[in-house]
Amino acid sequence: MKQNDSNAIKFMYGENIPVELHKVRMVQKLNLKPIDERAQAIEEGGYNTFLLNTKDIFLDMLTDSGTNAMSDNQISSMLRADDAYAGSQSFYRMEEALREVFGKHYVLPVHQGRAAENIISQAFIKKGDVIPMNYHFTTTKEHMEINGGKILEIYADHALEIKSSHPFKGNIDIDKLNKVIEEYGAKNVAFVRMEASTNLIGGQPFSIQNMRDVKAVADKHGIMFVLDASLIGENAYFIKQREEEFKDTPIKDILLLMCSFADIVYFSSRKVSSTRGGGICTNSKELMLKMRDLVVLYEGFMTYGGMSVREIEAMAVGLIETTDETVISQSPSFINYAVTQLDNVGIPVITPPGALGCHIDAMGFLPHVPQSEYPAGALASALYIVSGCRGMERGTISSVRDENGNDILADVELLRLAFPRRVFTLSQTMFLIDRVKWLYDNRELIGGLKFIEEPKVLRFFMGRLAPTSNWPEKLIAKFKADFGDSL
Ligand SMILES: *Cc1c(COP(=O)(O)O)cnc(C)c1O
Repeated sequence: MKQNDSNAIKFMYGENIPVELHKVRMVQKLNLKPIDERAQAIEEGGYNTFLLNTKDIFLDMLTDSGTNAMSDNQISSMLRADDAYAGSQSFYRMEEALREVFGKHYVLPVHQGRAAENIISQAFIKKGDVIPMNYHFTTTKEHMEINGGKILEIYADHALEIKSSHPFKGNIDIDKLNKVIEEYGAKNVAFVRMEASTNLIGGQPFSIQNMRDVKAVADKHGIMFVLDASLIGENAYFIKQREEEFKDTPIKDILLLMCSFADIVYFSSRKVSSTRGGGICTNSKELMLKMRDLVVLYEGFMTYGGMSVREIEAMAVGLIETTDETVISQSPSFINYAVTQLDNVGIPVITPPGALGCHIDAMGFLPHVPQSEYPAGALASALYIVSGCRGMERGTISSVRDENGNDILADVELLRLAFPRRVFTLSQTMFLIDRVKWLYDNRELIGGLKFIEEPKVLRFFMGRLAPTSNWPEKLIAKFKADFGDSL
């Protein structure tokens, strides 16, 4: 695979850089506060980037959820929204867009992705069932387990390697899928789930060939196939970039092909089309009827599903825009640039570059910080202090404790720097890279963290921590020595 495989535009002289294929028509002012104020903000936030206030943040790279930029067409579509409890024209426009983009006839609207997971899990999982999948997502796993299911992650062994040249780390291992069916019996497999641009392993895609293979096994045993399409656009883009057979296929056709393998396609619109909301799509009337009553019960009437009509209009337009390669290439090409720049100087990042964000391997970055002192959380705090950029810890802080109160150490300690679609410019990306490089050169100054307030449930959201030594002071002193009065 070529290093710079994600750039839509090539340069003849000099470096291949991503180019913003849009212009800025409305802006939001950002604050890059002096380092002492940033240090105070992270201390007040308990060294937890979730507890920062955006007034103190320069580049907010926490997540791509609900933070992608909307297009002019999306915003203008909101003005024609048809307010109605039942039968809104806005819903029919969204339904039409989904039929066109995903090729599924029946559309059930929901208020966001996890609501789709609730409904699918309630409708199709019975106690004791297993659900094989490429990798879990946090909300997916919870809903499946609440309904008595057990998730089985059957990725290939290389999927969790930090440095890899495998183009499709999101693939399901077919041998493992066959073994699951043999061991549990097809009737105890609720369905097989594939997640596009596998979120928690670094936004890594799967291939069409893998979908074909999974589909063949599923069909042989009469098992339903469910596709989590929250990050489907980027996965389709990587298929075009990395799977020879599809190099000349339009994104629109790749999307339709991907969805054609699945009996049910569901998505979070917070990711796929830059608005709130979500949906469940299928061509089977029988499957639709098993879910429909739950939509009315949990979400709202069939033509709004907990969304506002304005969001529904913007979602319809955003879905169609997802088929546009110049739109969908934006986030992957900036991520590709950041990952390549950091990888070139030996900074440990997940390769190949994926969707969603640039993922730094905190254990490789801070080998002197033991995992019990939360290296990914420490790195997130240190990066915020030296740059004002907010990333998200995806490591042991995001994990839980066992029954004896000991931390269950995460498989990987990642600092995720999300690149929401069309939000940041190249110069902002270069600023981030510069500060990460400086931090790497001064990495021995970064120490660990410990909990001072630890909630029992989902501790990473509201938990407060403190440094294990006065390392932030030393880091700030070195920053001032090197950067002078610069922000
Ligand atoms: C975000 C996400 C979800 C959940 O969607 P919400 O809209 O946040 O509820 C489900 N699956 C994947 C792959 C996601 O990235």
